[in-house]
Amino acid sequence: MNFYIYENWVAEKKAVIHRGECSFCNNGEGIHPNIHGEKNGRWHGPFDSYEEARRFAEGLRDREVRDCKFCLRETRETLIDRFKEFVGVQRRWFEGK
Ligand SMILES: [Zn+2]
Repeated sequence: MNFYIYENWVAEKKAVIHRGECSFCNNGEGIHPNIHGEKNGRWHGPFDSYEEARRFAEGLRDREVRDCKFCLRETRETLIDRFKEFVGVQRRWFEGK
């Protein structure tokens, strides 16, 4: 799975992480490919993993990093669930159950 970052430098100081197949991302082409050039923002990527994209986005200057509300909600919840499960397993192990 590929991940992309859209860095917007006009409206808000945001860097939004998308999955490649997201309709807003369209593998880094956006909804309207090149219609505004790089005047409004720029795509970064592809990145092989969410972590990699996240690390890159955090390294951008003066940007608030966000996950795309449409394509990354599932991934995020999946990660949180996995984390909770992991914590649960550890707790059970410590409690000797
Ligand atoms: Zn998206």
